[in-house]
Amino acid sequence: MSDRSPGEFAGAPRHALEIVRGEGAHLWDSAGRRYLDLGASHGTANVGHANPEVVAALARQARELLQLAGSFASPVRTEFIRALTATLPAPLDRVFLSNSGTESVEAAIKFARSATGRPRIVAAMRGFHGRTLGALSATWRPEFRAPFEPLVPEFAHVPFNDAAALAAAVDDRTAAVLLEPVQGEGGVHPAAEGYLRDARAIASAHGALLILDEVQTGLGRTGRFWALERSGIVPDIVTAAKSLAGGVPIGATVTTGAVESAFRGSHQSTFGGNPLACAAGIAALEYARRERLAERAERLGEIARLRLAGLPESVVREVRGVGLMIGIELRGRAAPHLEALRSQGYLAISGGANVIRLLPPLVISEEDWVGALGALREILGRG
Ligand SMILES: *Cc1c(COP(=O)(O)O)cnc(C)c1O
Repeated sequence: MSDRSPGEFAGAPRHALEIVRGEGAHLWDSAGRRYLDLGASHGTANVGHANPEVVAALARQARELLQLAGSFASPVRTEFIRALTATLPAPLDRVFLSNSGTESVEAAIKFARSATGRPRIVAAMRGFHGRTLGALSATWRPEFRAPFEPLVPEFAHVPFNDAAALAAAVDDRTAAVLLEPVQGEGGVHPAAEGYLRDARAIASAHGALLILDEVQTGLGRTGRFWALERSGIVPDIVTAAKSLAGGVPIGATVTTGAVESAFRGSHQSTFGGNPLACAAGIAALEYARRERLAERAERLGEIARLRLAGLPESVVREVRGVGLMIGIELRGRAAPHLEALRSQGYLAISGGANVIRLLPPLVISEEDWVGALGALREILGRG
């Protein structure tokens, strides 16, 4: 008999903090202390924690029907798909629903391979696409990959924001180019002006598809409803998850009729498109649209850029980002600064060892946001 109490494997929490409640941009621990969540629970709380409209939709749907096999039609699924595709450019109107970001990428990889009949996926260095074996094969970080090799064959990585390197890597065996419009986990690196346009042209020239992974950048995060709107291009596949259903697990892979007609084979998910996630998703999309959360992200992001200017160069290497997706790259490790922030009631996350990543709920009040930026200035100014 074991003398240890049971515990979580692999996904065990890294913080001693025990969080019991959330509301808007705030979280409360079990001792009743309040925190401002500057990471939106890893980007899943764009519409705020326990958004009342999402909660009401969930409660209503839970009383009607919790789960339904995808083989039956479901009005709530139909309505969610209509609401989701209404936010995207016209040819992106075929939707596959799953339960997480990594699943949305798995589906994108399968759709691209099947529709093109080609094996190769070209992704970017520093990119992150999830941790199941297919998505992990597109993820860059060696420490995420190495213990699980061999991964799926025919994945290549090129330097991000280098169109010449991308052009050299894409050929007539390439099924798809897979990119984040702003690399999130990799330390908040936005696509350079023109890079996604080049990627679109390079993929098209070789008959390859372009997949944009908007799992983190979607739902208003970058100051547009989708980050792709900033680039002016339309990809063949968009992946979405994280905040898409207001904090309820969901994944969506949105593609075109052309990809759908070329697709051979099958792909399914038992819980994908379940009534609860779809009801939450309808409420989250409606809330984000009506409350103009993208415009809010743009405006609050501008405030951050002004307030984070002029930090000491001995401490801060660079501040970068788009909308409310901001990375502060430090000369040293982020951990001690995150610790100092936490002791003042601010929960921020890192993006790699030396980047503080700010990804607050888009509903954060201007007063709270300015307060957090002031605390950051003070902590980073101390060195
Ligand atoms: C978080 C993330 C994923 C993985 O999502 P999970 O829901 O954790 O599987 C994939 N792509 C991007 C860009 C992400 O930020």
